[in-house]
Amino acid sequence: MSHILKQKERGSLVIISGPSGAGKGTCIKKYLESHDNVWLSISCTSRDIRPGDVPNESYYFLTREEFEKKIENNELLEYAEYNGNYYGTPKEYIESKLQNGFDVLLEIEVQGALKVKSLVPEAICIFIMPPSMKELRKRLVGRGTDSKEKILGRFKTAYKEINEVTSYNYVVVNDEVDNAVKKIDSILVAEKCNVSRIEQLFLGNEEEEIHELLVDDKVFVNEDVKI
Ligand code: 5GP
Repeated sequence: MSHILKQKERGSLVIISGPSGAGKGTCIKKYLESHDNVWLSISCTSRDIRPGDVPNESYYFLTREEFEKKIENNELLEYAEYNGNYYGTPKEYIESKLQNGFDVLLEIEVQGALKVKSLVPEAICIFIMPPSMKELRKRLVGRGTDSKEKILGRFKTAYKEINEVTSYNYVVVNDEVDNAVKKIDSILVAEKCNVSRIEQLFLGNEEEEIHELLVDDKVFVNEDVKI
């Protein structure tokens, strides 16, 4: 606790995007391992469960009808259609987590990110880039979890998404996971020092006292005052 100022205790809303295969998930997982003041939002999706997915942990898996019901009931902060499936961020918990000082991470695609940024301009938007398009191709094909059509769709979408990078506040190239995580950490630490987070300054009355000493023609010697 600093004595000179009080900073906002509210957590930051952090959006992490990047093309499929850029390694967002791996970076986020690693970041979460060493930070316990962060809460990762669980999205809803109408896509099929893939090998490795854990229902209610990776996503809340819903039918299209169930998803549309959530849209109707205004339960989502944002949603988007991506590769023929719905993805959306439930509103529930986000505000209370932020109020309780947790940073809230949203791992969402570009359209959703732009929507959240328009609703919450102070949200910190980080774009994760693959080191090269060649490497992205290698990663998408190497996954072996999707059909050829899906992989092609993801690759085409990747080009479109990368063109949106300048709408973000930060870009992190994921050439090596530990490096990328260090950069994410640095961004979030720097953001905590942003002057917009100052709530109150405690300057005391030092200036007045110094002024009085000067007026009375007192001399300073090693912080003691000699008359
Ligand atoms: P995947 O099917 O690979 O899990 O995710 C496909 C894309 O959907 C990724 O870019 C992921 O970040 C994005 N996504 C995941 N959850 C959400 C969400 O709640 N909203 C939006 N707009 N995109 C999401």
